[in-house]
Amino acid sequence: MELVFASHNDNKTREIRELLPQYEISSLKDLGFTEDIPETGDTLAANASIKSKRIYKEYGKAVFADDTGLIVPALNGEPGVYSARYAGSEANSEANMSKLLQNLSTQKDRKAYFETVISYIDKDGNESLFRGRVDGEILLSRQGKEGFGYDPIFQPEGEKRSFAEMTSAEKNTMSHRGRALQAFIQFLQSS
Ligand code: IMP
Repeated sequence: MELVFASHNDNKTREIRELLPQYEISSLKDLGFTEDIPETGDTLAANASIKSKRIYKEYGKAVFADDTGLIVPALNGEPGVYSARYAGSEANSEANMSKLLQNLSTQKDRKAYFETVISYIDKDGNESLFRGRVDGEILLSRQGKEGFGYDPIFQPEGEKRSFAEMTSAEKNTMSHRGRALQAFIQFLQSS
């Protein structure tokens, strides 16, 4: 069965292909879709939905899209839906992490969680949402070189290492995206 993954991110597409070997995963590149879909929603679910609906409208094929945020309750949920551009629209991960460490420097409560929402639209146009979450805390400084984004400063609960000190396989077993994908895979297998 063909499934479109509505993302321009090659790393994520590779990961999805590894996790869903029984499906023929087409990326936006495979479809020749080069447009950047603006993430204008104010929730992760809204943004995932905007992406899957846009692609469904264009191709009428079964499609899924994901959106992820890092939520820090002591900062009123920041960076949240703005995780990719926390330190500005051109910001890289280094700048985003620096801003977060700075904003948390006066806070005692360093609890945080990553959340991923997947929006899936089947070939008949029915939408389903799947969520995955991992709780943890923001470290005082960067640890480790693996991963991407906020990985060097996020330590999952019950672990002594940051995500950036784990292999991607280890991270996938407990991560927000791994958990959301497992829920999605279970749904696909039971429907
Ligand atoms: P996206 O919705 O998957 O593109 O994620 C939005 C932003 O959240 C990314 O640009 C990263 O800054 C951050 N992010 C998402 N997933 C992860 C992760 O697994 N580790 C660290 N940061 C992440």
